[in-house]
Amino acid sequence: MASSIARIVCLILLFICCGHGQDFGYDGKSGPDFWGLNYRGCNGGKLQSPIDIQLNNVIRKEFPPLIFEHFDKPLETVRLENNGHTALLSIKIGNLPNIRGGPLNATYNFTQLHFHWGRNDDEGSENLINNQSFPLELHMVLFNTDYGNFSNALNHDDGLVVLSFLFHRTIKENPSYQKFESGLPAVENFNASVDIVGFVSLDNFTTTDRSEYVTYRGSLTTPPCSEVVTWIEFINTIPLSHDQIQEFRLLSGSDGKLNHNFRPVQAANDRSVYMNIPTANNSNKPTNSNQKSSSTYLKNNLVLLVPVIIFSQKYFNFAVN
Ligand SMILES: [Zn+2]
Repeated sequence: MASSIARIVCLILLFICCGHGQDFGYDGKSGPDFWGLNYRGCNGGKLQSPIDIQLNNVIRKEFPPLIFEHFDKPLETVRLENNGHTALLSIKIGNLPNIRGGPLNATYNFTQLHFHWGRNDDEGSENLINNQSFPLELHMVLFNTDYGNFSNALNHDDGLVVLSFLFHRTIKENPSYQKFESGLPAVENFNASVDIVGFVSLDNFTTTDRSEYVTYRGSLTTPPCSEVVTWIEFINTIPLSHDQIQEFRLLSGSDGKLNHNFRPVQAANDRSVYMNIPTANNSNKPTNSNQKSSSTYLKNNLVLLVPVIIFSQKYFNFAVN
């Protein structure tokens, strides 16, 4: 049942996301500056994503716990595909992960996850933190189950959630990405796909240290740029080696190498950006994770920063790096 739902959702997603053809890219006349010509939603909105998250401007708030269901279950079979814009992973066989709680007023079901990267390790993430870029950003897209499916959810302000994870470069390989990386060469070409059997859980693929996050109202970062996304950007970053990051840059779109696929930051305007205050009540870390290499890279950078934000307005211009 769950696998059937996952398949249907995937098909809907392919139609919605990729049915527009190869009419947008990241360079020249098909680049982000020109998306608005074909997609009005990408022009002039007040809630566009990504943004530069300025930690000195966040509103600290204690949210209820974020509840992650089936994130701890290894995924039986996933499908990895190159849709011309990114490497996209959907669940073919396995329990459908979902989330609720935190800043959310509904349950959101997993639809797909994908990545954004840059030409080198100094760029690649879409959202920035204190103007700092990261070499890779994972977006896990989930839809509001109140609206039945992804397609309907796209028509509502609270239709989608994107769980966003940033990466940092390490010397050591991240073993949780070995199986995923082994599939990347098979999808180097546009429209290629491969099934991967015996995949890790989403907990292992991301991080289980999820109590610290920033959340804001925004949009899809690709056309049609719909302003229907609640963003949840986690502070704890995922480690990945240079060689593992490099694998993404070998993909090709319909018109050549896809060596970068991040949209530049958009105006934050007067949006409220919230940061969760982790407490014993809302820090429900799973205990069954096998991930030993979960990063504290950004978190470590914030260890000094966060108390400063909490207790002292006068240090608000402090930067992460
Ligand atoms: Zn994305």
